[in-house]
Amino acid sequence: MRCLKKKMSQVFSLTQRYKRTLQAMAAGVFLIYMTLVLYQNVYGYSGSGGDGTNGGQDLQYGSTDSAAATVQNVIAKRDYSVNSVNGHVIKSVSAKVAAPTRFDKAYYDYQNGQLSVTGTPKPPTTELDDVLISVKTTKGYHDTRLEMIIKTWYQLAKEQTWFFTDTDDQHYQKLTNGHMVNTNCSQGHFRKALCCKMGKEFEFFLDSAKRWWCHFDDDNYVNVPRLVRLLDEYSPTQDWYLGKPSISSPLEIFLDNTKTSSGANKKVTFWFATGGAGFCISRALALKMLPIASSGKFVAIGDKIRFPDDVTMGFIIEHILNVPLTVVDAFHSHLEPMEFIRPETFHDQVSFSYARMKNEWNVVKVDGFDLKTDPKRIYSLHCYLYPFFSICPKTTKRR
Ligand code: UDP
Ligand code: MN
Repeated sequence: MRCLKKKMSQVFSLTQRYKRTLQAMAAGVFLIYMTLVLYQNVYGYSGSGGDGTNGGQDLQYGSTDSAAATVQNVIAKRDYSVNSVNGHVIKSVSAKVAAPTRFDKAYYDYQNGQLSVTGTPKPPTTELDDVLISVKTTKGYHDTRLEMIIKTWYQLAKEQTWFFTDTDDQHYQKLTNGHMVNTNCSQGHFRKALCCKMGKEFEFFLDSAKRWWCHFDDDNYVNVPRLVRLLDEYSPTQDWYLGKPSISSPLEIFLDNTKTSSGANKKVTFWFATGGAGFCISRALALKMLPIASSGKFVAIGDKIRFPDDVTMGFIIEHILNVPLTVVDAFHSHLEPMEFIRPETFHDQVSFSYARMKNEWNVVKVDGFDLKTDPKRIYSLHCYLYPFFSICPKTTKRR
């Protein structure tokens, strides 16, 4: 009997001990959980481990050896993956397919009333109308480049897109419902003229009430719904400079009028987004640029560094304002081979381009119109993406 009692008390105390251990563990788990909840509330959600602002993450450009080749690259809130620019491996924002925006739905509903919208992780907060798209063009390209834009992607962003040119053109003014801006900048592909137009685009954005400014060249095809989805990943109230470099290491320039202690010209190093691929700037960042770059000052900075408009933009943002370029691989200029963009990914790309290189076209490889009708492949690309457009052959299958 005594033995049984002893056994019983042993079992009892054992149960008590387990109970206490379990209680302690539960309290520990609860404490960790509460800490996490509190942390998330204070700092917000950041997939990159950054803080959701521009203080994100240091990324190394592979196969470079100097300290200057390290760039502070900010990663989008949700995910990132390894990609490459000119063969150099970088970590950057991936061309992630997001759920369709309200704009996509409106467009498809308008076209045929059938395509349904799939589930979305969060309701989109950025709409097409939050964006100002500026396209740089020139008198000589109205017929050869602008016409194609107006027949294709412009139709998806008629109210939001403006063309910055160097002449009055009644024909295109009518076609665009007054969206041709004569910048009074000189014609010609030289720095001053190009910087002059870029400065006008910037000031036009500042005068608007838009949350985002996206610049493109007139040889870009802009995938409008994808552009809106991209911007929806970022906040216009934070500093964002989104685009893609066309060089594999940061640009190094020497400033004439700034000397080091030894009397040499000061070297500065920065990244810039290639203008020919397009880039986007948030309103918050544009407001920081205002005192430096508005009222004609953009041209003055271009003159000072003696580099083209897109380089000047990078100099102002990365060097002067210390806001890093966020690399978005979904922008494409004709400095990259277009044929390597796979058709299955067309919907994920923000921009495309084309160029004639000697006797060959650097163009997107896509089925569609014959090469004679559409040597630049832009109409074919547009019909691949949006087959229900009236310019597209009736037989084109939906993708
Ligand atoms: N451009 C311009 N004035 C010119 C030539 C070109 O404003 O005299 C614009 C053109 O419309 C385009 C951009 O500059 O948006 C780049 O021109 P292009 O594609 O001809 O040359 P790239 O710099 O791409 O080689
Ligand atoms: Mn070009």
